[in-house]
Amino acid sequence: MTFLPDSEFRIARARKSIAEMGLQALLITDRTNIGWISEFTGSSAYIILTSTDAIFATDSRYTVQAETQCPGWTLRKLASSDPGEIVGLLSKVDATRIGFEAVNLSFAAHSDYASKIPSGTEFVPTEKLIDGLRIVKDATEIEATREACVIADRAFSHILSYIKPGVTERTVMLELEGYIRREGGAEIAFDTIVASGYRSALPHGLASEKVIESGDFVTLDFGARHRGYCSDMTRTVVVGGPTEKQVAVYNVVRGALEDAIAGVKPGVKGIDIDSIARNRIKDAGYGDYFGHGLGHSLGRAVHDGPGFSPKSKLIVEEGMIITVEPGIYIPDWGGVRIEHDILVTGNGSEILNKTPVDLISL
Ligand code: ZN
Ligand code: ZN
Repeated sequence: MTFLPDSEFRIARARKSIAEMGLQALLITDRTNIGWISEFTGSSAYIILTSTDAIFATDSRYTVQAETQCPGWTLRKLASSDPGEIVGLLSKVDATRIGFEAVNLSFAAHSDYASKIPSGTEFVPTEKLIDGLRIVKDATEIEATREACVIADRAFSHILSYIKPGVTERTVMLELEGYIRREGGAEIAFDTIVASGYRSALPHGLASEKVIESGDFVTLDFGARHRGYCSDMTRTVVVGGPTEKQVAVYNVVRGALEDAIAGVKPGVKGIDIDSIARNRIKDAGYGDYFGHGLGHSLGRAVHDGPGFSPKSKLIVEEGMIITVEPGIYIPDWGGVRIEHDILVTGNGSEILNKTPVDLISL
């Protein structure tokens, strides 16, 4: 039995990186990385990858699922998640330098592995070995993200008629999330933000019992997870109004979004894209009110890797999917954030969300 085509391609990329690190094997324990390389959707498994072996180990809850989802892999059934069993599998592969995912292994688990690993075998911490490969997306991943964005666009059109004075943020959130699950056939990618009025100044204001009032800005930040891939979209609308100041602040954020996106192309630095938006907001006098990074990589995880920020070391490459989400948050007044998901193309970028960014007054 051969691997699924996407798995085969990703295994080849991983093997190349493993060899470049001077390792003969990699133990993969991160659930997102396991899903990326094997297409397995369960919550508990271990992968051991060498230049010739591709071992997929899981317990009885998932062995039937793994047989169906992960053709081509050598399946091993675990009696427990005891590190001793995994070490037993590791000791059977031909490797003296075995990498593990440092961020994913707790201190206790690492001590356990280290004490059981045969002498003469090095157990080497790796950082972002698979995560780094996930940043540039393949055709299947781009397609799944496109569809996740379509679901988010549809959910946004659907929710507009529910946003009105007298309705709580939580009611709006439940309808939006229900729509994504019901009509979109997807899961929500993360807990939905619905932040109205003074609460729109909270960049991560999860939906509360606050009642939406006339004159409020309402910021909605939400996403769908479709075939494993996330969309992440933010729009700020105004209920009634808008006031002159609301229009002015909105237009600064919109300008920052559009200028930053116009600067994206392969070879540019993540830090420079962040500066484009940040300077635009600063020049308009709102520099103190934009505290977070401009955007993050998007994929199987909502925060899938580095993106655009003042500390970013990212060099933009074709095939990356990154969010662009400038905001201005003025305490006790309100805030605006607008977020697009963009795909880096050969000479620029493509915006995957089709919902326009004109200020909508409801
Ligand atoms: Zn978002
Ligand atoms: Zn985001």
